[in-house]
Amino acid sequence: MGSNVGDSLETLVQAVCLLERKGIHICKVSGIYVTEPIGYVEQDDFLNMAVQGETALDPQALLERCQEIESALGRVRKIHGGPRTIDIDILLFGQTRIREDRLVIPHPKMGERAFVLVPLREIAPEIFERLQFSIPPQRVGLKYSCADVTMRLQSCGLSFLC
Ligand code: ADP
Ligand code: MG
Repeated sequence: MGSNVGDSLETLVQAVCLLERKGIHICKVSGIYVTEPIGYVEQDDFLNMAVQGETALDPQALLERCQEIESALGRVRKIHGGPRTIDIDILLFGQTRIREDRLVIPHPKMGERAFVLVPLREIAPEIFERLQFSIPPQRVGLKYSCADVTMRLQSCGLSFLC
């Protein structure tokens, strides 16, 4: 997940709470990282994090829930790759592979993005190892630890072992 418009920390915390409320049981959260924009670079730095969850939803229904949460948190799509209140992407869904117009899993760009790989490695080092990606040289700095994020998630009843 990523955000670079508005109160990005609060938006990411709200997004995790909403995922939990909409049928995705969150099992792990990463810390929150400050990352440089790539592609469209004339915009503010992002805050990024990754979460791991369990769900009975199928991947298409999960994408719909993610998009509902993006809208609920005020996302407006303007410039592709440009500033956004919240972006929620599905990186992996177990071992499932999907190639549809609206949904590609594993996420096709994850291997090119340090802002994805660094938080993914934090929450799922064994999955990260298996994927055999090397982390591109982009600026990614830890801003809030998993423990900080967990403290903020107590308001919606979530707690994690970091
Ligand atoms: P970005 O590529 O920056 O994430 P958007 O969030 O606007 O841009 O997503 C564009 C489209 O990407 C969505 O409408 C969605 O249908 C599609 N998409 C394809 N695969 C995925 C995925 N794994 N996770 C999220 N969106 C995906
Ligand atoms: Mg997206």
